Amino acid sequence: MKSPRLVAYSPEVAAELGLSDQDCLSEDFCRVFAGNRLAAGMQPFAMCYGGHQFGHWAGQLGDGRAINLGEAVCPDGRRRTLQLKGAGRTPYSRSADGLAVLRSSIREFLCSEAMHHLGVPTTRALSVVLTGETVVRDMFYDGNPQLEPGAIVCRVAPSFTRFGNFQIFTARDDLDALKKIGGLHDSQRFSGIGRAGAADLSALVRGSLSLTAEMVVHWQRVGFVHGVMNTDNMSILGLTIDYGPYGWLENYDPDWTPNTTDAQGRRYRFGNQPKIAYWNLVQLANAIYPLVMRAESLQQALSVFSETFAAEWSATTAAKLGLSRFDPDKDEALVGDLLQLLQAAETDMTLFYRQLADLDPYAPAGSAADFVAMLERNSYAPLAAELRDRALAWFGQYCSRSRSEAGDPEARRQRMNAVNPKYVLRNYLAQLAIDQAEQGDFGLVAELLDVLRNPYSEQPGRERFARSVRIGPNSGRDVRCCLAVLDRAFTVFCSGYCTELPGWHTIVPFG
Ligand code: AMP
Ligand code: MG
Repeated sequence: MKSPRLVAYSPEVAAELGLSDQDCLSEDFCRVFAGNRLAAGMQPFAMCYGGHQFGHWAGQLGDGRAINLGEAVCPDGRRRTLQLKGAGRTPYSRSADGLAVLRSSIREFLCSEAMHHLGVPTTRALSVVLTGETVVRDMFYDGNPQLEPGAIVCRVAPSFTRFGNFQIFTARDDLDALKKIGGLHDSQRFSGIGRAGAADLSALVRGSLSLTAEMVVHWQRVGFVHGVMNTDNMSILGLTIDYGPYGWLENYDPDWTPNTTDAQGRRYRFGNQPKIAYWNLVQLANAIYPLVMRAESLQQALSVFSETFAAEWSATTAAKLGLSRFDPDKDEALVGDLLQLLQAAETDMTLFYRQLADLDPYAPAGSAADFVAMLERNSYAPLAAELRDRALAWFGQYCSRSRSEAGDPEARRQRMNAVNPKYVLRNYLAQLAIDQAEQGDFGLVAELLDVLRNPYSEQPGRERFARSVRIGPNSGRDVRCCLAVLDRAFTVFCSGYCTELPGWHTIVPFG
């Protein structure tokens, strides 16, 4: 790469690898993580995998722009693989360039660190480096390619193995390779995945299944939409991997997907993620079948998915509402009604749960008026009389359900604030950081990284990063489609309403 320049690094990931701040700020670091130099012991390789894309077998894919530098044994004794994304062509690049642009690299860097601090299993990001090269991209997919700054993220994970790494060998009938890759993922190296030697590969499916279910529960908890849950983007360790057109729910909408190429079928919409995770696990089980040859044991492994998911999701939902446990008889309807209300009112999911913690459902009179005001304040649609009535009715039920538990208001608040983040990487925040970085100012990338390090803390003075974008007098409905697009039009459009961030953008009224 022509002239590498460090944009940002994650001090926590660096520390895990045994690298000091001084190391990360050195010229050598920049050279290594721009792919210009190998450090001692690094043995770069790219992996071959296949995958189901949008429900169809796509054949061989592979690390088309990811290059593994090798596996490090870290000071804590654990193994972590370092992987560059965007460092150039590999044997699996097909006709593409193997490169990545600054905007997608910043999005991956910020989001993977934000997810980690939210407690969501994820690959991590050590660094993002500008390469000094330009990359040709047709950002709007409209036949007008432009030059964009190139960048490289260094990702870090115990393993980058995907479901597709198993699928490709099954598709090729290469059972030896399949056995080998299964054997690499035993419990000695990866706690939680179960004993997955060739002797019992259904244990690998079981381990991967519970880790995947757990990951998706977290996604649903924080309002994260992956956007491209193809089997080549599913980690065998249940880590969120491959940050592409992902997005964060603003108004609660289970049908929303940030992926414009999936706008029609909406296969990867928010509300469909648990089902798709299961579908993908079935493909993993199919891939492993030739080695196991016992359909029942795989079937059994798969059959626990819906139970595992439902149990974890119920507990999570109860915690989000400040209840000490989930009582199916009472709470299924309570939660169902709430989600319908939030969808109809187009309520900002993050703000709603966070601010629900500030109301006291144990107070004798309840605070129904405060609840309606809070809902109204955080909704993108006007609260018509019918919705207002539904909101009042719901809050009444919620108060009596809360009072049925011997609850302590402070304990409740803390319980809620531990699962309902105040700060998430709102779509427009990432875009603002990208805009500045493209002008050579990395300040907002650094500040966002820092804010998102403590997503559950109040962080006085930084409230502006917790705000939603207030969109025009006609509410967000017409504008929301733009949230699906990772393009400049989106920033210009939305930042016009970003009145809460003075000085960053001029305000353009929505007409
Ligand atoms: P994705 O949809 O990002 O998971 O990518 C699907 C496949 O395309 C993967 O095998 C990627 O490695 C490959 N790919 C995506 N972008 C590029 C690129 N710029 N150069 C080479 N391969 C790429
Ligand atoms: Mg991918």
